Amino acid sequence: MDAPLLEIRGVKKYYPVKKVRGGEDIAVKAVDDIDLVVNQGEIVGLVGESGCGKSTLGKSILKLHDITGGQILFHGEDITHYNENKMRPLRKKIQIIFQDPYASLNPKKKVEQLVAAPLEVEGKYSKEEKRQKVVDILKEVGLSEKYLEKFPHEMSGGQRQRVVIARALINDPELVICDEPVSALDVSVRSQVLNLLKDLQKKRGLTYIFISHDLSVVEYLCDRVAVMYLGRIVELADKKELYGNPLHPYTQALLSAIPVPDIHKKRAEIILQGEIPSPLHPPKGCLFSTRCPKVCDRCREARPELHSLPGADGSTRQVACFLYESGIAQEK
Ligand code: ADP
Ligand code: MG
Repeated sequence: MDAPLLEIRGVKKYYPVKKVRGGEDIAVKAVDDIDLVVNQGEIVGLVGESGCGKSTLGKSILKLHDITGGQILFHGEDITHYNENKMRPLRKKIQIIFQDPYASLNPKKKVEQLVAAPLEVEGKYSKEEKRQKVVDILKEVGLSEKYLEKFPHEMSGGQRQRVVIARALINDPELVICDEPVSALDVSVRSQVLNLLKDLQKKRGLTYIFISHDLSVVEYLCDRVAVMYLGRIVELADKKELYGNPLHPYTQALLSAIPVPDIHKKRAEIILQGEIPSPLHPPKGCLFSTRCPKVCDRCREARPELHSLPGADGSTRQVACFLYESGIAQEK
Protein backbone atom coordinates (compact mmCIF):
# COMPACT_ATOMS: atom_id res chain seq x y z
CA MET A 1 0.00 0.00 0.00
CA ASP A 2 1.16 3.51 -0.74
CA ALA A 3 2.44 5.55 2.16
CA PRO A 4 0.06 8.26 3.36
CA LEU A 5 0.63 11.73 1.96
CA LEU A 6 1.75 13.06 5.31
CA GLU A 7 2.68 11.36 8.52
CA ILE A 8 3.58 13.20 11.70
CA ARG A 9 5.20 11.06 14.35
CA GLY A 10 5.68 12.28 17.89
CA VAL A 11 6.30 15.86 16.77
CA LYS A 12 7.33 18.33 19.45
CA LYS A 13 8.07 22.01 19.26
CA TYR A 14 9.26 23.58 22.48
CA TYR A 15 10.14 27.24 22.83
CA PRO A 16 12.79 27.69 25.48
CA VAL A 17 12.14 30.45 27.94
CA LYS A 18 14.98 32.25 29.69
CA LYS A 19 15.44 30.83 33.10
CA VAL A 20 14.64 32.96 36.05
CA ARG A 21 17.68 33.34 38.28
CA GLY A 22 18.14 30.22 40.34
CA GLY A 23 15.16 28.53 38.70
CA GLU A 24 15.00 25.66 36.30
CA ASP A 25 15.10 25.94 32.54
CA ILE A 26 11.56 25.93 31.29
CA ALA A 27 9.98 25.77 27.88
CA VAL A 28 6.63 26.43 26.29
CA LYS A 29 5.56 23.07 24.92
CA ALA A 30 3.67 24.60 22.00
CA VAL A 31 3.35 21.22 20.30
CA ASP A 32 3.93 18.15 22.41
CA ASP A 33 4.13 14.66 20.98
CA ILE A 34 1.66 14.81 18.13
CA ASP A 35 0.93 11.86 15.86
CA LEU A 36 -1.23 12.46 12.82
CA VAL A 37 -1.69 10.73 9.48
CA VAL A 38 -3.15 12.68 6.60
CA ASN A 39 -4.26 10.78 3.52
CA GLN A 40 -4.28 12.02 -0.02
CA GLY A 41 -7.48 13.89 -0.88
CA GLU A 42 -8.86 14.39 2.60
CA ILE A 43 -9.51 17.49 4.65
CA VAL A 44 -8.33 17.16 8.21
CA GLY A 45 -9.43 19.84 10.65
CA LEU A 46 -7.31 21.05 13.56
CA VAL A 47 -9.40 22.81 16.18
CA GLY A 48 -8.84 24.20 19.63
CA GLU A 49 -8.75 27.50 21.45
CA SER A 50 -6.22 30.18 20.64
CA GLY A 51 -2.71 29.26 21.84
CA CYS A 52 -3.20 25.48 21.76
CA GLY A 53 -0.47 25.03 19.14
CA LYS A 54 -2.36 24.79 15.84
CA SER A 55 -0.20 27.27 13.92
CA THR A 56 2.98 25.89 15.45
CA LEU A 57 2.05 22.44 14.17
CA GLY A 58 1.31 23.89 10.72
CA LYS A 59 4.68 25.64 10.61
CA SER A 60 6.39 22.46 11.77
CA ILE A 61 4.93 20.54 8.83
CA LEU A 62 6.15 23.21 6.44
CA LYS A 63 9.50 23.12 8.17
CA LEU A 64 9.39 26.85 8.72
CA HIS A 65 11.22 26.11 11.96
CA ASP A 66 13.24 23.23 13.37
CA ILE A 67 11.26 20.88 15.54
CA THR A 68 12.34 19.75 18.98
CA GLY A 69 11.55 16.10 18.39
CA GLY A 70 9.70 13.62 16.23
CA GLN A 71 9.51 12.97 12.52
CA ILE A 72 7.70 14.35 9.50
CA LEU A 73 7.19 12.06 6.52
CA PHE A 74 5.89 13.21 3.14
CA HIS A 75 4.94 10.36 0.79
CA GLY A 76 6.73 8.09 3.24
CA GLU A 77 9.97 10.04 2.91
CA ASP A 78 11.46 11.32 6.15
CA ILE A 79 11.92 15.06 5.54
CA THR A 80 12.56 15.98 9.18
CA HIS A 81 16.18 16.91 8.64
CA TYR A 82 16.06 18.12 5.06
CA ASN A 83 18.01 21.32 4.48
CA GLU A 84 16.63 24.16 2.34
CA ASN A 85 18.23 22.70 -0.76
CA LYS A 86 16.49 19.37 -0.36
CA MET A 87 13.27 21.08 0.67
CA ARG A 88 13.09 23.28 -2.43
CA PRO A 89 11.26 20.83 -4.71
CA LEU A 90 8.92 19.99 -1.83
CA ARG A 91 8.10 23.64 -1.16
CA LYS A 92 6.01 23.57 -4.34
CA LYS A 93 4.05 20.60 -3.07
CA ILE A 94 3.23 21.94 0.40
CA GLN A 95 1.68 25.38 0.62
CA ILE A 96 0.16 27.49 3.37
CA ILE A 97 -2.63 30.05 3.41
CA PHE A 98 -2.53 32.37 6.39
CA GLN A 99 -5.30 34.16 8.18
CA ASP A 100 -4.59 37.73 7.17
CA PRO A 101 -4.32 38.20 3.41
CA TYR A 102 -3.28 41.81 3.83
CA ALA A 103 -0.24 40.83 5.85
CA SER A 104 0.79 38.07 3.47
CA LEU A 105 0.74 40.21 0.31
CA ASN A 106 3.45 42.76 -0.44
CA PRO A 107 1.51 46.04 -0.70
CA LYS A 108 3.85 47.43 -3.37
CA LYS A 109 3.22 44.65 -5.85
CA LYS A 110 0.43 44.13 -8.30
CA VAL A 111 -1.63 40.95 -8.40
CA GLU A 112 0.16 39.69 -11.50
CA GLN A 113 3.55 39.81 -9.78
CA LEU A 114 2.20 38.51 -6.49
CA VAL A 115 0.58 35.46 -7.99
CA ALA A 116 3.47 34.77 -10.38
CA ALA A 117 6.11 34.94 -7.63
CA PRO A 118 6.25 31.16 -7.00
CA LEU A 119 6.87 30.63 -10.74
CA GLU A 120 9.96 32.87 -10.68
CA VAL A 121 11.86 30.42 -8.50
CA GLU A 122 12.32 28.02 -11.36
CA GLY A 123 12.78 30.58 -14.10
CA LYS A 124 11.51 28.14 -16.67
CA TYR A 125 8.55 30.13 -17.94
CA SER A 126 8.51 32.98 -20.43
CA LYS A 127 6.78 36.24 -19.54
CA GLU A 128 3.76 35.29 -21.67
CA GLU A 129 3.51 31.82 -20.16
CA LYS A 130 3.61 33.27 -16.67
CA ARG A 131 0.92 35.78 -17.48
CA GLN A 132 -1.28 33.07 -18.95
CA LYS A 133 -0.82 30.87 -15.88
CA VAL A 134 -1.74 33.78 -13.63
CA VAL A 135 -4.82 34.60 -15.71
CA ASP A 136 -5.92 30.94 -15.57
CA ILE A 137 -5.49 30.54 -11.86
CA LEU A 138 -7.17 33.89 -11.13
CA LYS A 139 -10.14 32.68 -13.13
CA GLU A 140 -10.23 29.51 -11.06
CA VAL A 141 -10.46 31.52 -7.86
CA GLY A 142 -13.15 33.78 -9.30
CA LEU A 143 -11.15 36.87 -10.32
CA SER A 144 -11.18 38.28 -13.84
CA GLU A 145 -8.19 39.53 -15.83
CA LYS A 146 -8.77 43.10 -14.70
CA TYR A 147 -7.35 42.16 -11.28
CA LEU A 148 -3.87 41.63 -12.77
CA GLU A 149 -3.13 45.33 -12.45
CA LYS A 150 -4.54 45.84 -8.98
CA PHE A 151 -2.63 46.45 -5.77
CA PRO A 152 -3.70 44.71 -2.53
CA HIS A 153 -5.16 47.93 -1.09
CA GLU A 154 -7.46 48.28 -4.10
CA MET A 155 -9.26 45.04 -3.26
CA SER A 156 -11.62 43.80 -0.57
CA GLY A 157 -10.52 41.28 2.07
CA GLY A 158 -12.27 38.46 0.25
CA GLN A 159 -10.61 39.36 -3.06
CA ARG A 160 -7.21 39.54 -1.38
CA GLN A 161 -7.68 36.10 0.11
CA ARG A 162 -8.57 34.83 -3.37
CA VAL A 163 -5.24 36.23 -4.58
CA VAL A 164 -3.46 34.42 -1.74
CA ILE A 165 -5.24 31.18 -2.69
CA ALA A 166 -4.28 31.66 -6.36
CA ARG A 167 -0.64 32.14 -5.38
CA ALA A 168 -0.71 29.02 -3.20
CA LEU A 169 -2.16 26.94 -6.03
CA ILE A 170 -0.19 28.19 -9.02
CA ASN A 171 2.46 25.50 -8.71
CA ASP A 172 -0.05 22.64 -8.30
CA PRO A 173 0.60 21.72 -4.67
CA GLU A 174 -0.56 18.45 -3.14
CA LEU A 175 -1.01 19.59 0.43
CA VAL A 176 -2.33 22.98 1.52
CA ILE A 177 -2.28 24.05 5.12
CA CYS A 178 -5.09 26.54 5.62
CA ASP A 179 -4.40 28.43 8.85
CA GLU A 180 -7.61 30.23 9.84
CA PRO A 181 -8.12 31.26 6.20
CA VAL A 182 -11.44 33.02 6.76
CA SER A 183 -11.11 34.23 10.35
CA ALA A 184 -10.01 37.74 9.36
CA LEU A 185 -12.71 38.15 6.72
CA ASP A 186 -16.10 39.82 7.03
CA VAL A 187 -18.75 37.32 8.02
CA SER A 188 -20.57 38.06 4.77
CA VAL A 189 -17.74 36.76 2.56
CA ARG A 190 -16.57 33.86 4.73
CA SER A 191 -18.88 31.28 3.24
CA GLN A 192 -17.93 32.32 -0.31
CA VAL A 193 -14.25 31.76 0.40
CA LEU A 194 -14.99 28.49 2.21
CA ASN A 195 -17.03 27.27 -0.74
CA LEU A 196 -14.21 28.24 -3.06
CA LEU A 197 -11.71 26.26 -0.98
CA LYS A 198 -14.05 23.29 -0.95
CA ASP A 199 -14.62 23.42 -4.73
CA LEU A 200 -10.90 23.74 -5.45
CA GLN A 201 -10.12 20.80 -3.19
CA LYS A 202 -12.61 18.61 -5.00
CA LYS A 203 -11.68 19.69 -8.49
CA ARG A 204 -7.93 19.41 -7.96
CA GLY A 205 -7.94 16.45 -5.58
CA LEU A 206 -6.09 18.54 -3.01
CA THR A 207 -5.37 17.56 0.56
CA TYR A 208 -5.99 20.18 3.25
CA ILE A 209 -5.04 20.57 6.84
CA PHE A 210 -7.64 23.07 7.89
CA ILE A 211 -6.83 25.01 11.04
CA SER A 212 -9.57 26.91 12.83
CA HIS A 213 -10.85 27.84 16.25
CA ASP A 214 -14.35 27.87 14.75
CA LEU A 215 -16.02 24.49 15.07
CA SER A 216 -18.87 25.25 12.69
CA VAL A 217 -16.45 26.10 9.89
CA VAL A 218 -14.56 22.86 10.50
CA GLU A 219 -17.78 20.86 10.52
CA TYR A 220 -18.73 22.31 7.18
CA LEU A 221 -15.43 21.58 5.47
CA CYS A 222 -13.58 18.66 7.03
CA ASP A 223 -13.65 14.87 6.77
CA ARG A 224 -11.79 14.20 10.01
CA VAL A 225 -11.12 16.44 12.95
CA ALA A 226 -8.36 16.59 15.56
CA VAL A 227 -9.10 18.56 18.73
CA MET A 228 -6.05 20.13 20.39
CA TYR A 229 -5.57 21.33 23.94
CA LEU A 230 -2.31 22.79 25.27
CA GLY A 231 -0.14 21.36 22.50
CA ARG A 232 -1.64 17.88 22.36
CA ILE A 233 -4.39 16.13 20.44
CA VAL A 234 -7.10 15.07 22.88
CA GLU A 235 -9.55 13.62 20.38
CA LEU A 236 -9.46 12.59 16.73
CA ALA A 237 -12.42 11.22 14.82
CA ASP A 238 -14.39 11.31 11.60
CA LYS A 239 -16.42 14.48 11.48
CA LYS A 240 -19.76 12.73 11.89
CA GLU A 241 -18.60 10.88 14.98
CA LEU A 242 -16.90 13.85 16.54
CA TYR A 243 -19.89 16.13 16.14
CA GLY A 244 -22.53 13.44 16.70
CA ASN A 245 -20.94 11.76 19.69
CA PRO A 246 -18.05 13.75 21.15
CA LEU A 247 -16.21 11.71 23.77
CA HIS A 248 -13.61 13.94 25.37
CA PRO A 249 -15.07 16.31 27.97
CA TYR A 250 -13.16 19.14 26.29
CA THR A 251 -14.69 18.38 22.88
CA GLN A 252 -18.10 18.15 24.55
CA ALA A 253 -17.62 21.58 26.08
CA LEU A 254 -16.41 23.14 22.83
CA LEU A 255 -19.34 21.74 20.89
CA SER A 256 -21.86 22.74 23.48
CA ALA A 257 -20.86 26.36 22.95
CA ILE A 258 -21.59 26.41 19.19
CA PRO A 259 -24.61 28.56 18.48
CA VAL A 260 -27.29 26.62 16.62
CA PRO A 261 -30.27 28.17 14.85
CA ASP A 262 -32.81 25.82 16.43
CA ILE A 263 -32.94 26.50 20.16
CA HIS A 264 -34.59 23.12 20.85
CA LYS A 265 -31.71 21.24 19.30
CA LYS A 266 -29.05 23.02 21.24
CA ARG A 267 -27.05 20.97 23.68
CA ALA A 268 -26.95 22.26 27.22
CA GLU A 269 -23.93 24.51 27.25
CA ILE A 270 -21.09 23.26 29.41
CA ILE A 271 -19.41 26.23 30.98
CA LEU A 272 -15.79 25.42 31.68
CA GLN A 273 -14.38 26.55 34.97
CA GLY A 274 -11.21 28.59 35.07
CA GLU A 275 -8.80 29.69 32.37
CA ILE A 276 -6.58 27.65 30.07
CA PRO A 277 -3.51 26.96 32.23
CA SER A 278 -0.30 28.77 31.28
CA PRO A 279 1.65 26.60 28.84
CA LEU A 280 4.68 27.36 31.01
CA HIS A 281 3.11 25.57 33.94
CA PRO A 282 0.81 22.88 32.56
CA PRO A 283 -1.03 20.62 34.99
CA LYS A 284 0.82 17.51 36.04
CA GLY A 285 -1.71 14.88 35.03
CA CYS A 286 -4.28 15.30 32.28
CA LEU A 287 -3.79 18.74 30.77
CA PHE A 288 -7.52 19.33 30.95
CA SER A 289 -7.87 18.19 34.57
CA THR A 290 -8.01 21.72 36.00
CA ARG A 291 -11.15 22.53 34.02
CA CYS A 292 -12.76 19.16 33.42
CA PRO A 293 -16.29 18.68 34.79
CA LYS A 294 -15.64 14.91 34.97
CA VAL A 295 -12.23 15.00 36.61
CA CYS A 296 -11.27 12.29 39.12
CA ASP A 297 -8.20 11.88 41.34
CA ARG A 298 -6.27 9.84 38.84
CA CYS A 299 -6.56 12.55 36.19
CA ARG A 300 -4.61 14.92 38.42
CA GLU A 301 -1.74 12.46 38.76
CA ALA A 302 -1.38 10.66 35.43
CA ARG A 303 -1.69 11.82 31.84
CA PRO A 304 -3.98 9.76 29.61
CA GLU A 305 -2.49 8.84 26.24
CA LEU A 306 -4.41 9.01 23.00
CA HIS A 307 -5.80 5.55 22.37
CA SER A 308 -7.98 4.00 19.69
CA LEU A 309 -11.60 2.98 20.02
CA PRO A 310 -13.94 1.48 17.47
CA GLY A 311 -16.10 4.16 15.88
CA ALA A 312 -19.24 3.65 13.84
CA ASP A 313 -19.06 1.97 10.41
CA GLY A 314 -15.88 0.10 11.26
CA SER A 315 -13.84 3.27 11.55
CA THR A 316 -11.43 4.02 14.36
CA ARG A 317 -11.44 7.06 16.57
CA GLN A 318 -9.03 8.21 19.22
CA VAL A 319 -9.41 9.89 22.56
CA ALA A 320 -7.07 10.75 25.42
CA CYS A 321 -9.26 10.32 28.49
CA PHE A 322 -9.38 7.77 31.32
CA LEU A 323 -13.18 7.61 31.03
CA TYR A 324 -12.86 5.51 27.91
CA GLU A 325 -9.98 3.31 28.92
CA SER A 326 -11.88 0.06 28.66
CA GLY A 327 -13.30 1.09 25.31
CA ILE A 328 -16.83 1.69 26.54
CA ALA A 329 -18.05 5.09 27.44
CA GLN A 330 -18.28 4.97 31.21
CA GLU A 331 -20.42 7.95 31.95
CA LYS A 332 -20.12 9.04 35.50
P1 ADP B 1 -2.66 28.69 17.97
O1 ADP B 1 -2.29 28.78 16.53
O2 ADP B 1 -3.40 27.44 18.31
O3 ADP B 1 -3.39 29.90 18.46
P2 ADP B 1 0.20 28.88 18.42
O4 ADP B 1 0.74 27.70 17.70
O5 ADP B 1 0.32 30.19 17.74
O6 ADP B 1 -1.31 28.60 18.84
O7 ADP B 1 0.91 28.99 19.84
C1 ADP B 1 1.06 27.90 20.72
C2 ADP B 1 1.82 28.34 21.96
O8 ADP B 1 3.18 28.60 21.63
C3 ADP B 1 1.31 29.60 22.61
O9 ADP B 1 1.44 29.47 24.00
C4 ADP B 1 2.22 30.67 22.08
O10 ADP B 1 2.34 31.73 22.99
C5 ADP B 1 3.54 29.90 21.97
N1 ADP B 1 4.41 30.44 20.89
C6 ADP B 1 4.11 30.47 19.57
N2 ADP B 1 5.13 30.97 18.86
C7 ADP B 1 6.13 31.25 19.76
C8 ADP B 1 7.46 31.79 19.66
N3 ADP B 1 7.97 32.12 18.48
N4 ADP B 1 8.17 31.92 20.81
C9 ADP B 1 7.65 31.56 22.00
N5 ADP B 1 6.43 31.05 22.17
C10 ADP B 1 5.66 30.90 21.07
MG1 MG C 1 -2.81 30.25 15.11
